[in-house]
Amino acid sequence: MQFDYVIVGAGSAGCVLANRLSADPSRSVCLIEAGPPDRSPLIHIPAGIPGMLPTRYLNWAYKTVPQRGLLGRCGYQPRGRTLGGSSSINAMVYIRGHRSDYDGWAALGNPGWSYDEVLPLFRRSEDQARGADHYHGTGGELAVSDLPSPVHASLAFVEAAIRRGLRANADFNGADQEGAGLYQVTQRRGRRCSTAVAFLSPVRARPNLTVLTGVRVERVLLAGQRATGVLVQGRTGAGQIDAAREVIVSAGVFGSPQLLMLSGIGAREELARHGIGLRHELPGVGANLADHIDLALVYRSSDAGLMGITLRTALRAIPGYFEWRRSGTGLLTTNFAEAGAFLRTRSDLDRPDIQLHFVNGIVDDHARRLHYGYGVSCHVAVLRPASRGSVGLQSADPRDPPRIDPNFLAADVDVQTLLAGVKIAREIMDGAPLDRHRGAELFAGGNSDSELIERIRRRADTVYHPVGTCRMGHDELAVVDPSFRIRGLDALSVVDASVMPAPVGGNTNAPTIMIAEKAAEHLAA
Ligand SMILES: Cc1cc2nc3c(=O)[nH]c(=O)nc-3n(C[C@H](O)[C@H](O)[C@H](O)COP(=O)(O)OP(=O)(O)OC[C@H]3O[C@@H](n4cnc5c(N)ncnc54)[C@H](O)[C@@H]3O)c2cc1C
Repeated sequence: MQFDYVIVGAGSAGCVLANRLSADPSRSVCLIEAGPPDRSPLIHIPAGIPGMLPTRYLNWAYKTVPQRGLLGRCGYQPRGRTLGGSSSINAMVYIRGHRSDYDGWAALGNPGWSYDEVLPLFRRSEDQARGADHYHGTGGELAVSDLPSPVHASLAFVEAAIRRGLRANADFNGADQEGAGLYQVTQRRGRRCSTAVAFLSPVRARPNLTVLTGVRVERVLLAGQRATGVLVQGRTGAGQIDAAREVIVSAGVFGSPQLLMLSGIGAREELARHGIGLRHELPGVGANLADHIDLALVYRSSDAGLMGITLRTALRAIPGYFEWRRSGTGLLTTNFAEAGAFLRTRSDLDRPDIQLHFVNGIVDDHARRLHYGYGVSCHVAVLRPASRGSVGLQSADPRDPPRIDPNFLAADVDVQTLLAGVKIAREIMDGAPLDRHRGAELFAGGNSDSELIERIRRRADTVYHPVGTCRMGHDELAVVDPSFRIRGLDALSVVDASVMPAPVGGNTNAPTIMIAEKAAEHLAA
């Protein structure tokens, strides 16, 4: 099989690219996804998240190497494994980050990446239910809307945060990110709007677009310095798919560096360790892994309006399902992380350094440990951690997961920021507006700094925003240039969350979609 463009991975970035590149009928595009089609109702009913997040269902469910900063615990790293990738299993929170994040990328020597330059790309994808303005677009593929039926406790959280001194913010993606409010979500009429739903489904019938599912790419093929195609493994065996113009690797922050290394592109020592012949030396492949470290504060509750593992919730789910089908509202439209806040832990900071996600339910170890009853949780995440980790190989076998080392809390400044954020979050959670919704705190321990740090090290983990493992730039450790090409090779690009040079101050789905919009412009040109 031969195509002009071969895209590896149908995740947040891959689906956008497939749509934009196949818009010109003279170009043939092949999108290859290792996971199955996205038919499961757990994807499309927002409240289906707990069926995927803690399980291996449509989820790579990676684990990290033991983390010194987490007292030797292994972290958990879920990633979507279906059309839509992680946008099919994520919490649907629509956040772009802070304008200074993009200005920072531009200042690092990446022309075209300042906030003012990327804002039109965010607007292009967007179909904002509140209508268009300077910051928001309408008519794009990606539905962004207010939650149809937030629970009372989420409104009470916002009230409690305001009483604690935060300002009310109705639009975290507008003029100013700081403050507390309800999140907007990537939903249309109460259904998840993954990138597969938004960008792929409407164009599946294009004759110049081929979508393969259940097919794993095992190697990028190089002829000299030029990528010519990929080796794949499907249900019926192995094969080769040729790319006349470009191979685009969009396999995500763990999959993309793994695939490059399996293809002989990476750090000399890492490839030698696994007996892989070096085709192109690039020491930065897999380096620079950054992730939002997070501690969830968890409280029991007697509020039966919340989601819980109870008979009552199960019984409510039956009429809830029919309400969801009929009107796209009700219990099953919850994304769980309904409300949140961006706050500064010190008044001398010029932008928020902590994000809160208030969750409609008990979150213990990514919902892998279940608790009977009702509860609420508050995730506290460090927005721009200083710690950097890496992605390597466990073996030269493409079926093995990559070796993931986020190196959480290696930098003491991350511990101090998280500690300060946890103290503020506890004050908010102790606030009177939440009295009706919050009971005893689980896993509380003591209140001294050393006891809270102990608790952080015992319980913190990712809030699912790893980035940076094929980062763009011009220096020795950069993997792609600011127009996504792998440095030193032809016809090979990386386009996904891995190219971010530094973490953004917020969730990473919208930024990844923006990145793919920008890449499509470059590739089409
Ligand atoms: C549980 C969870 C909750 C999250 N919540 C939010 C949220 O609420 N808001 C938000 O903005 N962000 C959220 N995120 C983060 C966000 O979804 C991701 O940052 C974003 O989807 C990453 O996009 P990507 O294109 O880089 O990778 P992905 O979307 O992960 O796509 C990579 C794709 O490549 C495929 N693939 C990998 N290797 C191969 C191979 N060798 N061959 C073929 N295919 C391959 C994978 O199966 C996958 O489909 C969450 C993430 C998770 C996991």
